[in-house]
Amino acid sequence: MNKRILRGHHLLCVHGFRGMGYSSEFVQKMQQIVEEIRNTDLDFPVQVIAGLDETCFSCPHKGEGYCNKSPESNAHVLGMDRRVISHLGLEDGQVYQKSELVKAVKKYVEPEDLDELCKGCSWLEYGVCKEGIAELKKT
Ligand code: SF4
Repeated sequence: MNKRILRGHHLLCVHGFRGMGYSSEFVQKMQQIVEEIRNTDLDFPVQVIAGLDETCFSCPHKGEGYCNKSPESNAHVLGMDRRVISHLGLEDGQVYQKSELVKAVKKYVEPEDLDELCKGCSWLEYGVCKEGIAELKKT
């Protein structure tokens, strides 16, 4: 299977995703990636980055190389990417196996860590992301 490119904070989003998103195209893309990540029979290389990834290219808020949702949003999403990459002990731009990345989230992320890692994300208040991490940790 081809390499996927995922931005740092999407390493968390994939565990709590419940079909909500910014447009039907975005939701469809996210759903496809989420299914691949959650499929324990599947492993593949993932390049982890702080910056736009393939889900962003299906997002209506994508600007020319940056997130254009609001004047602050690019700095905000980059901050989340960098916090998650650092929290998991990863390096920006490096390639890992999907299974290693899921294992790292399971080991190093507690549901309440999202309050800091995802600070300012509009989806945090729904609680589904914390639930997703809690469910992952039970596996
Ligand atoms: S709170 Fe936001 S950034 Fe964090 S996992 Fe949920 S959707 Fe992703």
